[in-house]
Amino acid sequence: MTLATVSPYDPDQITERSGHAVVVGASMAGLLATRVLIDRFERVTLIEKDSLPDEPALRPGIPQARHIHVMQKAGLVTVENLFPGYSDDVIEAGGLVLDLASDVKLYQEGDFLAGGPMRIPQYTASRPVFEQVTRRRVAELDGVTILDECHFSNYLVDDQASTVEGVSVRTADGDRELDAELVVDATGRTSRTPAWLENNGYPAPPRDEVSIDLAYSTVLLERPAETRRAFLVLPHAPRTRGAAAFPIENGRWLLTLGGMHGDYPPTDPEGVLEYAASLPVADIGRLLEEHAWVSEDISYYPIPSSVRHRYEDLDRFPDGLVVIGDAVASFNPIYGQGMSVAALEALQFHHTLATDDQGGLALRFFERAAGVVDDAWSIAVGSDFQFPETTGPKPFGTNLVNRYVARLHRKAHTDGRLADAFNRVIIMENRPTSLFRPSVVWRVVKPSPRVRYG
Ligand SMILES: Cc1cc2nc3c(=O)[nH]c(=O)nc-3n(C[C@H](O)[C@H](O)[C@H](O)COP(=O)(O)OP(=O)(O)OC[C@H]3O[C@@H](n4cnc5c(N)ncnc54)[C@H](O)[C@@H]3O)c2cc1C
Repeated sequence: MTLATVSPYDPDQITERSGHAVVVGASMAGLLATRVLIDRFERVTLIEKDSLPDEPALRPGIPQARHIHVMQKAGLVTVENLFPGYSDDVIEAGGLVLDLASDVKLYQEGDFLAGGPMRIPQYTASRPVFEQVTRRRVAELDGVTILDECHFSNYLVDDQASTVEGVSVRTADGDRELDAELVVDATGRTSRTPAWLENNGYPAPPRDEVSIDLAYSTVLLERPAETRRAFLVLPHAPRTRGAAAFPIENGRWLLTLGGMHGDYPPTDPEGVLEYAASLPVADIGRLLEEHAWVSEDISYYPIPSSVRHRYEDLDRFPDGLVVIGDAVASFNPIYGQGMSVAALEALQFHHTLATDDQGGLALRFFERAAGVVDDAWSIAVGSDFQFPETTGPKPFGTNLVNRYVARLHRKAHTDGRLADAFNRVIIMENRPTSLFRPSVVWRVVKPSPRVRYG
């Protein structure tokens, strides 16, 4: 499900607030879960193991924050509805709004896609800016307490472990227990809930793991204030290498090189230049050559696999516990959709909380969240399966879809309407199935005009 198919936020759906909820993990999924919970609970405590600074800053719990993070339209619109004025806050913090249809050059299948016929605003900033602006708004909410440097240790349960009744935490002042009617696990990829379920007599969720053996190397470059270009060079089998460069706050570009299936980008400046020179377009290498490097520090991030825990397949799950965000599914960030998935999941959580029947809350939420994950997972993992080296459960019909999308990309080199249709899937406005609408299929399959000579 995407922006077009998830019902919008409706604060009037929930009229009574009572009780206490705890959210573990103050990254994007935890922050947005806190926002929707405070409509339903009198108090929400958000706990985070890192120290949380007042200013945008890198922190150990989100090592991915050193790499490019664009917020796609689905994320931006959803967060804006939850926090009116959010996009202005991002701009005020130094973020930029680009036009995806004209400022972002997307290279795929041998050329750049044509400019689209309609403007598509795309917000870009560093990940610490998106998070800090969100955190500031969450901290202002009446009834919300944020506890940083507070490590989640375990769930507190009743005698039969049928209901989670709170969490035990470790702080500098010692161990504590926090009672809660609902606990939300937003601890990302390192979530311990699957193991906890097994240790407490529950089935763990089935796990899909798609191996991609991907790594990123990212460089920070100086950017002339007026320059707003962005580049995205997607890997395309058998070419395992790709790259992206996006403008961010303070007159900088973040430039990321990525290599799949063990073709890792280097972490030394010379190696980075050589790797960039091997890309099919010169633009990335040119940025590296022509603009000063803020420092020679190159951030490296390995992503061995995309992982999805299919909580929606469970028929038994403890009361009082919900899992959200990357803790449910984290996948190849090729299309930059993780924060938008977290936002749409928060919206689904809001709708789940709004129904009168609070029994089976988690399983009802997982069902709704699965619809969001399905769409993002299918296009990220689908594109991973262009490579024969990719292993894991392959979504049904992937080869056929990949052949069709490859043709769509080639046609989109000259057909801006096809580029627009593809972009609207990337930004999670439309579902991937929208690429099979008759108006799109016709443009993809119709013969190219013959070139006449003489
Ligand atoms: C290299 C890379 C690039 C990406 N690029 C994009 C992009 O361009 N656009 C996009 O939308 N998404 C992108 N993503 C995905 C995005 O980072 C995540 O989807 C998003 O952050 C939501 O994750 P989350 O909040 O669920 O988990 P995380 O961001 O992983 O946060 C988990 C939080 O839980 C805390 N925590 C963990 N354990 C404990 C504990 N025991 N006690 C207390 N706190 C704990 C951590 O410190 C952290 O704050 C990218 C990901 C990667 C890896």
